[in-house]
Amino acid sequence: MKVLVINCGSSSLKYQVFDMQTETVLAKGNVERIGIDGAFLKYRRGDEDTITVEAEIPNHEVAIQLVFAALTNESYGVLKSAAEIEAVGHRVVHAGEKYASSVVIDDDVMAALRECIELAPLHNPPNIVGIEAAQKLMPNVKHVAVFDTAFHQTMPDYAYMYALPYELYEQYRVRRYGFHGTSHKYVAERAAAILGRPLSELKIITCHLGNGASVTAVNCGKSVDTSMGFTPLEGLIMGTRSGDVDPAVITFIQDKEGLASEQVNNLLNKQSGVFGVSGVSSDFRSLEEASEAGNKRAALAMEMFAYRVRKYIGAYAAAMGGVDAIVFTAGLGENSPSMRQNICAGLEFLGVKPDAEKNNARGKEVDFSANGAKVHTLLVPTNEELMIARDTVALVQG
Ligand code: ADP
Repeated sequence: MKVLVINCGSSSLKYQVFDMQTETVLAKGNVERIGIDGAFLKYRRGDEDTITVEAEIPNHEVAIQLVFAALTNESYGVLKSAAEIEAVGHRVVHAGEKYASSVVIDDDVMAALRECIELAPLHNPPNIVGIEAAQKLMPNVKHVAVFDTAFHQTMPDYAYMYALPYELYEQYRVRRYGFHGTSHKYVAERAAAILGRPLSELKIITCHLGNGASVTAVNCGKSVDTSMGFTPLEGLIMGTRSGDVDPAVITFIQDKEGLASEQVNNLLNKQSGVFGVSGVSSDFRSLEEASEAGNKRAALAMEMFAYRVRKYIGAYAAAMGGVDAIVFTAGLGENSPSMRQNICAGLEFLGVKPDAEKNNARGKEVDFSANGAKVHTLLVPTNEELMIARDTVALVQG
């Protein structure tokens, strides 16, 4: 079965086509600047060079048409016709409390996604636009929604509730939801496979460390706590997001600087994190360079980042009453041996003991714990698209 996986942002669209018989990626790429001047499509067949096509791309429907034109192109395509696609998997950010797993999209699902717009105003609208555009172009295949929030629906109420007046939960569904669920689930499953043990017996802490970053406690295959909350702002320090701060700081700054709520939102989401602390960059490669050149704020930002992750690991070991494995994934987690090492430093009391030589790896599955370490430390590259494609096949085949 050939499956198209789509991930729509407000002005972008990422896509991959899988042959699910072999779970191989036939082609993948992205469309950027949709609805803006200078739009383009990038396309890559297998491991070949990337092709860039510049075009006027006023909306997501045109973007998907262009994707199909590339996929069926005579010289570099991978399909004879678009009809070879038998199902489409869509990444959707927020399903509120409605869905705890992936679903085949129907009118009820679309209505639920619209209801969740107020919970994810930046993410759900482009996801909906992408689904509608794809349905229009492929009306005869099943479309599946795979939600970032679904995996975390197993959190117990004492972990997902905020200690605010209960009515706010009843009225507005203010609670913790968690995100990156597809990634946390994928790497937890891979960790169990690498360790050769059933997921249902393991206590795993998964650290998804990219531009957005979150930690999840996965007990016996179920998410029991995660660091992101009502929105992807809570928890870890991120590229430009603050993560946890005393909520009183927000009203304090609002009063001092005379900021509107939208401006505070922007400050916490776009001006903060390691970027805000360092004043250098949100990218850890630039921070490492700056720190090596003696920039103290860049060094401080990285130390704060590692310390916050370490604290969450400690908290989640306590939440689960132990930990068998800690998994690192996403841009930073997969590519920075020094950050993994710094996060693990000080966790020896838990039985965490990384092997520096084994840890010197990038972008491939490795158990980098030292011989005899009580807690395994693993590097597992995430693959959200494959997870989406797998869920899509499972649902379509019924
Ligand atoms: P996103 O949340 O946008 O999907 P990614 O998972 O792609 O983010 O992670 C992007 C981040 O990963 C970059 O901002 C950068 O800080 C970090 N990163 C990527 N490669 C490296 C590297 N070689 N060394 C250190 N950090 C890296």
